[in-house]
Parts: sequence; C-alpha cells; structure tokens
Amino acid sequence: MSKDKPNCKATVLGAGCWRSRRCSRYAVKDGYCNQHHPNTIAAKDAASKAKQDAWSRKFILKRDVHHGDQDFTDAFRSYMDGCQDSAEAWDKVLDTWKALESSRAALEKVSNDE
Ligand SMILES: [Zn+2]
Repeated sequence: MSKDKPNCKATVLGAGCWRSRRCSRYAVKDGYCNQHHPNTIAAKDAASKAKQDAWSRKFILKRDVHHGDQDFTDAFRSYMDGCQDSAEAWDKVLDTWKALESSRAALEKVSNDE
C-alpha cells in the first residue's frame, strides 16, 4: 500500500503577496518541512537577533571611542591652555586617555570576533 507523503502545514505568502498558500514541500518532522519546522524558525530568529545585538554593541563602542577621543582632546587642550591647577588637569588627561584606550580595546575585540 502506497501512501502520499503529507505536505508541510506551514502557510507561506504567495506570489500575489496578499494571498497565502500552503507550503508545497513534504513534511519531514512534526508536520513541517525542514524550512518551516519551529526549531528552524527559532534558530533563524536567534541568529538574526545575535547579529543585530553584535551590530548595536559595535555601534555603541564606536560612539564610545568617538566620545572618548573628544574627551581626551578636550582634557589635553585644557591642560595645555590652563595652568591654574595643572596636576588636576593632567589627571583628567590620563583618565580620559585610559577610558579612550579601553573603549578602543573593546571595539577591537568585537571587530576581531566577527
Ligand atoms: Zn514548509
């Protein structure tokens, strides 16, 4: 006795966009084809979320580096200009430099992970 393989039970958008149709692939697991199985969909969502997260992390780090660079430049400029309390101004230069370096290192690490 031969029995037709059941089709995937997922609905997909048809060519007309406003009309949906049943997926025409054979069901291979839990009534879904490989592409529409909930596990595959979940894995795809997780992958795209991870990619988006990585992108926004990098964006924030880039912004940190940019701001750190400005802070350092400002601190260095006021150290060079000022002279009222140069020790404090120099501390600020060192602090902003350290912050900039750590932002740069974090950004480099994220870029290397890609
Ligand atoms: Zn399917």
